[in-house]
Amino acid sequence: MASPLDQYEPLDIIGTGSFGIIRKVRRKADGVVSRVAVRSLAGADALQIFARKELNFERMSERDRKQIVSEVNILKDLHHEHIVRYHDRHVDRDAGVLYILMEYCGGGDLASVIKQAQRHSRPIPEDTVWNYFMQILLALNHCHHPQVHGRGSDVDGREKRAQILHRDIKPDNIFLDENHIVKLGDFGLSKALVQASFANTYVGTPYYMSPELMQEKAYDSKSDIWSLGCLIYELCALKPPFHEAKTHAELSILIRNGRIPPLPKGYSTSLSNVIKSMLNLNPAMRPSAAQLLAHERLDLAFKVNE
Ligand code: ADP
Ligand code: MG
Repeated sequence: MASPLDQYEPLDIIGTGSFGIIRKVRRKADGVVSRVAVRSLAGADALQIFARKELNFERMSERDRKQIVSEVNILKDLHHEHIVRYHDRHVDRDAGVLYILMEYCGGGDLASVIKQAQRHSRPIPEDTVWNYFMQILLALNHCHHPQVHGRGSDVDGREKRAQILHRDIKPDNIFLDENHIVKLGDFGLSKALVQASFANTYVGTPYYMSPELMQEKAYDSKSDIWSLGCLIYELCALKPPFHEAKTHAELSILIRNGRIPPLPKGYSTSLSNVIKSMLNLNPAMRPSAAQLLAHERLDLAFKVNE
């Protein structure tokens, strides 16, 4: 019997992850479905493109393997328009490789959007910022507040899942598809709250690290909100709010002082105020994803997008 791996034709390598490469693959039309079926399938479906993470698990430590298994388990339960969709996984035991098949995001990521804007000294229009903001919030809301979307909303009627914290929100982990739809991805560091009620092992980029984490306090959904505040700030200022530090210790001081440099001219007070609310030093004072979505301007962005 043909291996499920034979169903996919490997294309270019599109990225390098912490545990291996990410490759573009195309689902082959032949050998999988009959020729008649292929003809009747719309071209797009017969030749569907995916992103495939290729992880060499033989070279991984036990801890890293567990991390991967947890990422896969988290991803497969997340069905949302603004979250990179997980499709399948395959293990090649002989080669010691685990393949994870995901939705392909052909529009790059927000880190490259920011880099482009810098390079051409062309600020990102405020409407675009609100629009990205709204789409990321919809994804985050789905992760943070499963009770709202949980029971019954899954196609196969699975039990309500646990709250999920992303823990590594930064421009490189927010992808865009070919239609410029925003997709939250790279759940490599995420934790389902049931298995780790206090996830103290944050290893994300320090620029986006919340003050409570800097002080090694508990991590909760409000720490993701802090990181998102940093990200939205960076979309406007093209640099993170806290970054002028040479060492980790200096960065920690900057973050814990919480002085937010003003946004460049041209961005509204309304946007600046929302960012400030997300960068409140006290996590309890930061708005939740659900509260943010109720913001008038985000509500408008949502309606325009519908
Ligand atoms: P890591 O955990 O090492 O950061 P990522 O999942 O962020 O790994 O992937 C690393 C890079 O691979 C990304 O920055 C991106 O360039 C590319 N990549 C990852 N997933 C996708 C995807 N679904 N579609 C397109 N490119 C992707
Ligand atoms: Mg990443």
